[in-house]
Amino acid sequence: MKINFIDLQGQYQKYKKEIDKEIQEVLDTSMYIGGKVKELEENLANFVGCKHAIACSSGTDALLLALMALDIKAGDEVITTPFTFIATAEMIAFIGAIPVFVDIDEKTYNIDVTQIEEKITAKTKAIMPVSLFGQISNMDVINKIAKKHNIKVIEDAAQSFGATYKGIKSCNLSDIGTTSFFPAKPLGCYGDGGAVFTNNDELASKIRIFLNHGQTQRYKHSHIGINGRLDAMQAGVLNIKLKYFDKEIAQRGIVAKKYNENLKDIIIPFVEEDNLSVWAQYCIRVKDRDAMLKKCADKGVPTGVYYPIPLHLQEVFQYLGYKNGDFPITEKVSLDIMALPMSAFLTKEEQDYIIEVVNG
Ligand SMILES: *Cc1c(COP(=O)(O)O)cnc(C)c1O
Repeated sequence: MKINFIDLQGQYQKYKKEIDKEIQEVLDTSMYIGGKVKELEENLANFVGCKHAIACSSGTDALLLALMALDIKAGDEVITTPFTFIATAEMIAFIGAIPVFVDIDEKTYNIDVTQIEEKITAKTKAIMPVSLFGQISNMDVINKIAKKHNIKVIEDAAQSFGATYKGIKSCNLSDIGTTSFFPAKPLGCYGDGGAVFTNNDELASKIRIFLNHGQTQRYKHSHIGINGRLDAMQAGVLNIKLKYFDKEIAQRGIVAKKYNENLKDIIIPFVEEDNLSVWAQYCIRVKDRDAMLKKCADKGVPTGVYYPIPLHLQEVFQYLGYKNGDFPITEKVSLDIMALPMSAFLTKEEQDYIIEVVNG
């Protein structure tokens, strides 16, 4: 049995006819830039229930565009979590702002909302929670703190597209929401892609200007921007996949539930009552991770570790002055967490085998 960590091939085979047709249409019309992107943006806005969906080149560029649109600059502070993919804090630092880390909640692995307020200073411009592993943070509390201090909220929803919090979709819970369509994400394209969401007309128009070289009209440039466009082929792929995404989310939930009910002697993921997770990762915590990783590797069960080194301990962020011990929960979790195969296309036989190996 050859088990995939994420079964991208199984997914493609299922939608092959429709996806091939979309790609062929792009080739036949030569509409490589733009084209199907507009239709995708309408579909994404409808799906999320948000006024503006702006497709862009990656989840990383989506974060950058959000920070630019909020006019966050060198010396400003942005509060975020040290337990995330590098891109979150990287883009804050990339524009010259300072990532200010707050430890995570031990149950959800998302930012500990009770520790945010004490980190707010006169320089704080935004809070950037990450909806880790597919589960949204406690956005009511985060939005309330932001409102009180007159700062903005950007949800890094790269792992949570399709998730809900109190019935509201991820990306529609803050000033700006950003997501990624990297192939391994819950909704992935066949290359790099991302999107930015907002209900604010002014922010949306700024994001559109920034993602196209600061251009307001053809060859008229008002701002320094980037080339952050999404390709039409990727838009075509996403237009098809989005049609089946709700079904896939439901299936991912079924896979997660089966893991939850059958895995033994490990810490299973915790999902808050207010939340529906899209299970970007199914992460467990184990007593001896090295032994468990080896056992899985030996028996052909692929695994992943998200994330082995917290961001405050990364070499690149040494200049921020953090040290080991600053975020005890993050540090503890980074030592014993590991992810098991998760996709809507994991078969019953595959999952039974994975459970047997992990429990064995
Ligand atoms: C994947 C990811 C990103 C970056 O997305 P890309 O599309 O790969 O640029 C940003 N933040 C988080 C939390 C991610 O998981």
